[in-house]
Amino acid sequence: MTVIDPQAATPLHALTLDNRFASLPSAFYTALKPTPLPSPYLVCSSAPVAELIGLEASALSGDNFTEAFTGNQLLAGSRPLAAVYSGHQFGVWAGQLGDGRAILLGDVASKGPSARLEIQLKGSGLTPYSRMGDGRAVLRSSIREFLCSEAMAALGIQTSRALCITGSDQYVMREKPETSAVVTRVAPSFIRFGSFEHWYYNNKPEELQALADFVLEHYYPELREDANPYQALLGEVTRRTAELMAHWQAVGFMHGVMNTDNMSVLGLTIDYGPFGFMEAYDEGHICNHTDSQGRYSYRMQPTIGHWNCHALGQAMLPLIGSVEDTQAALSVYQDSYKRKMDELLHRKFGLATSEAADGELFDRFFALMQESHADFTQTFRALCKVQRDSSVPDEPLRDLFIDRNTLDVWLNAYKERLAFEDRCDEQRMQAMRTANPKYILRNYLAQVAIEKAENKDFSEVEKLLQILRSPFDEQEEHEAYADLPPDWALHLEVSCSS
Ligand code: AMP
Ligand code: MG
Repeated sequence: MTVIDPQAATPLHALTLDNRFASLPSAFYTALKPTPLPSPYLVCSSAPVAELIGLEASALSGDNFTEAFTGNQLLAGSRPLAAVYSGHQFGVWAGQLGDGRAILLGDVASKGPSARLEIQLKGSGLTPYSRMGDGRAVLRSSIREFLCSEAMAALGIQTSRALCITGSDQYVMREKPETSAVVTRVAPSFIRFGSFEHWYYNNKPEELQALADFVLEHYYPELREDANPYQALLGEVTRRTAELMAHWQAVGFMHGVMNTDNMSVLGLTIDYGPFGFMEAYDEGHICNHTDSQGRYSYRMQPTIGHWNCHALGQAMLPLIGSVEDTQAALSVYQDSYKRKMDELLHRKFGLATSEAADGELFDRFFALMQESHADFTQTFRALCKVQRDSSVPDEPLRDLFIDRNTLDVWLNAYKERLAFEDRCDEQRMQAMRTANPKYILRNYLAQVAIEKAENKDFSEVEKLLQILRSPFDEQEEHEAYADLPPDWALHLEVSCSS
C-alpha cells in the first residue's frame, strides 16, 4: 500500500487527516487498513461534500482520488480503524457488532457547520467485526446510500453525507453475484446508541464514561458545564432523535432498520439500507421486506425512536446516577416530537398560525390519503396549488383521491381555515413549495440508475443526484422524475442484503 505524500503536488494534498476517535482506549477499535479492490473506477462524486472537506472539484477526477477512496492508497495522516459497538436488532439484544465493513480513515477540518468531519469507507474489506459477512458492499446498495444521503441533506434533514462511490469488477455473492463498490461517507461522528450499549452490557464502566466524555468534549461541549452532563447529553440526544423522527415522517422517509446500532448519537440519519420513501400512502407501510412484523413500519418510527432512546438511557444509567434522572432526560421525547411535527405539518399545510383544531384537520387529510392510497409526495405538492377562491378548480389534488365528496368537505374546511391567515394565496403557495418536495428518491428511480450503472453507464446516477439536489424546485424539464412508479416497479422489494 502506498501512502500519498502530503507535499506532492496532487489535488488531494489539501486533505490531511487526524483521527480523534483513535485517541480513545485501544479496546474501542481495531487499527487496520482497508483491503484493496482491483482496478477501481469512479462511479459518482458529490462536489458539495468535497467542498465541505476542503477538496477542489479538480481533485475528484484524478486516479489518486479513486485509489484513495477505494482504500487502495492511504491519505496522509490517516490512521484507519474499525470501531466496535453492539446493539439491539429488531428489539432483541444482539451482542457485539461493530464496523463489519466500514473503516474510519480519520477526520479533517471543515468549513461547514461542523469544525471537523470524519471520513469513512464502507465496503472496504473484512474487519474483526465482520462476523459472517464479507466486508464488502455492492454497487446497488452503495448507489442507494449515496443518492439518499445527498437527497436527505437537500431536504434539510440531518444525515451523514456521501463523498463518492468507487466500483470494481470484483464480484461478491448476495442473492445473486453482484459487483462491489465502496461508498465514502462523511459525518462529524459515526458513534451510535449501540456504542454506549456495548460498554454497558460488557460491564465496563470506565470505557462507558470515556465514551460519554469523548462525545461531550467533541460534539456537545456546551453541556459539559451542566450539573449532570451525562443526563444533559441523554436529554439532548433524545430531543434530536425525536426531531429527526418528525422530519422523517414529514417527508415520508422510512429507514427500514432502526436497530440501536443504526442510531446516531448526533441525531443524524445513518446507515442507509432498505429505506424507502412513502409513495401510495399507507401508514402501516413496511419498506424492508425482511421486517415481517412491521416493527419499523412508517407508523411505528416515532415509537421506535423513543424505544431506542430508552435503550440508550439504560446504557447511560450508571453515568447519570439514578432512574429518576434518566427518565427525566428521556421524558423530553414526546414533547419534542409533537412540537417539531406540529411545526412541520403547519408548514406542509401552509398555515403560519396555529389553531386548536388544526391537528384534527391534518388527521382527516391523512385518513383520506390512507383510504385512497394517495401518493404522499404528489398529494402534498398538489395541496400547494389549492386556492381559497372557490372558482379555481382543485383538480390536481382531487384527481389523487377516490372519495371526492369527502375530500370536498375537507377542502371547504381547509379553505375556511386558510381565511384566518394573513398571507395571500401566492405567498402561502410559495411557502408550501419549500416545505413539500416535488422530487424524492423513489425506489424505481434509484433502480433505473442502478441498472444503468451496473452496465457502466453512470449518467443516470449523476442526473438523479442533480435533480435531488433541488427537491423543492419545479424543474419543469425533469417533470417525469416526479411521476408515480411504473407498473414494473410496484412490487420492487428491498431487503437488508446489501
Ligand atoms: P446493518 O444492519 O447493515 O447496519 O449491519 C449490521 C451489522 O452487520 C453491522 O455490524 C455491519 O457492519 C455488519 N455487516 C453488514 N453487512 C456486512 C458485510 N457484507 N460484511 C461484514 N459485515 C457486515
Ligand atoms: Mg448498521
